[in-house]
Amino acid sequence: MIYKRSSALFAEAQKYIPGGVNSPVRAFNAVGGEPIYVKEAKGAYLYDEDGNKLIDYIASWGPMILGHAHKPVVDAVVAKAQKGTSFGIPTEMETEIAKLAVSMVPNIDKIRFVNSGTEACMSAVRLARGYTGKDKIIKFAGCYHGHSDSFLIQAGSGAVTFGSPNSPGVTQGTAKDTLLARYNDLSNVKELLEANKGEIAAIILEPVAGNMGCIIPESGFLEGLRELCDVYGVLLIFDEVMTGFRLARGGAQELFNIKADIVCFGKVIGGGLPVGAFAARNEIMNHLAPLGPVYQAGTLSGNPLAMAAGLTMLSELNDHPEVFKSLEEKTAYLHRGLIKVLNDAEVTYTINRLGSMISVHFTDDKVVDFESSAKGNNDTFKKFFHGMLTEGVYLPPSAFESWFLNDALSYDDLDFTINAVAKVAGAL
Ligand code: PMP
Repeated sequence: MIYKRSSALFAEAQKYIPGGVNSPVRAFNAVGGEPIYVKEAKGAYLYDEDGNKLIDYIASWGPMILGHAHKPVVDAVVAKAQKGTSFGIPTEMETEIAKLAVSMVPNIDKIRFVNSGTEACMSAVRLARGYTGKDKIIKFAGCYHGHSDSFLIQAGSGAVTFGSPNSPGVTQGTAKDTLLARYNDLSNVKELLEANKGEIAAIILEPVAGNMGCIIPESGFLEGLRELCDVYGVLLIFDEVMTGFRLARGGAQELFNIKADIVCFGKVIGGGLPVGAFAARNEIMNHLAPLGPVYQAGTLSGNPLAMAAGLTMLSELNDHPEVFKSLEEKTAYLHRGLIKVLNDAEVTYTINRLGSMISVHFTDDKVVDFESSAKGNNDTFKKFFHGMLTEGVYLPPSAFESWFLNDALSYDDLDFTINAVAKVAGAL
């Protein structure tokens, strides 16, 4: 494939934007080479500035669950834009989307909309601290909850890809309040709770992790966390930025039948526009300003274009719950295909998958936490990534990211992808 124009655009971008990108993982540092520049996208496909067509397995890192430029979403945004793009004054649509989200997600009474997943998680933790009167939080190594200070402690995703899971700029004062646990290790969490009795406001986690590849909670892990939280008087925060409205209509809470105390959303909830949200039962949410003392605000929060995209996306999923089944079936099909061709090629691998989140790790050990994920052979991943790109398949440009399937993918696209993996794996 030719990437001449992308390359020129990247060179120009680097003069004016740090690293040429507005979010680090886009720069391809983890896999080497240069990023492609997207010109447009439709359904399951990306079209780059050089005229290449690629099958997209990142779906804007999750949001485009129904495919790119999904007509009802685009129509809703265009219609809204003609009536003004921001007011900073309430609109009816904010209540409509809040009402719909509350009806879809179990165990929440109220929801507050923000502009990103980072804001959602940052605000959720502040609310948990304000509600409990405690300062510390427990997070898991390899989980990513956005780039706010408290979370850049052994963070996953781009932070670990770029070798800065603990970013300079985060003060010791902030870092000391974030305690680190191993994913899928309840006894480790219990030790931390015991050693910091009465000081922990919340445990935050991705109920299915997607920022160290896809990591599935082992049986009893989420249940065990719920129990520990109840015993120690700690709030359980599910960061459902990836899993919300993707793994099920009601997200991981519904899928695993576990009640979280606060839930964070992003990605799908905005239908591809910048939206995040956090939600909880009244008892907790009523602590938020203007009802309560915990402050949180946003000039563009509840923005009409963003709400139009989000409301349309959630309505589509609510009205067509068969989408979740279809995504499950498509991803299971891809999973089976990958197993076959990787076995045929005698490649060492482990695949983790839940619903439409899937990742291939080039190790034969089980991948259950950050440590085991980091054992994957990154050189093999790089070759795999570039091989697939050459074949016309766009995978996440880092081994520490989950792939996200979208429902616009056809079985022909999946077959094409499986054949591409067969070709690429043969040369690994
Ligand atoms: N939480 C999780 C689980 C995420 O995957 C992400 C982003 N990948 C975030 C929070 C942060 O969201 P945003 O990039 O919208 O700030």
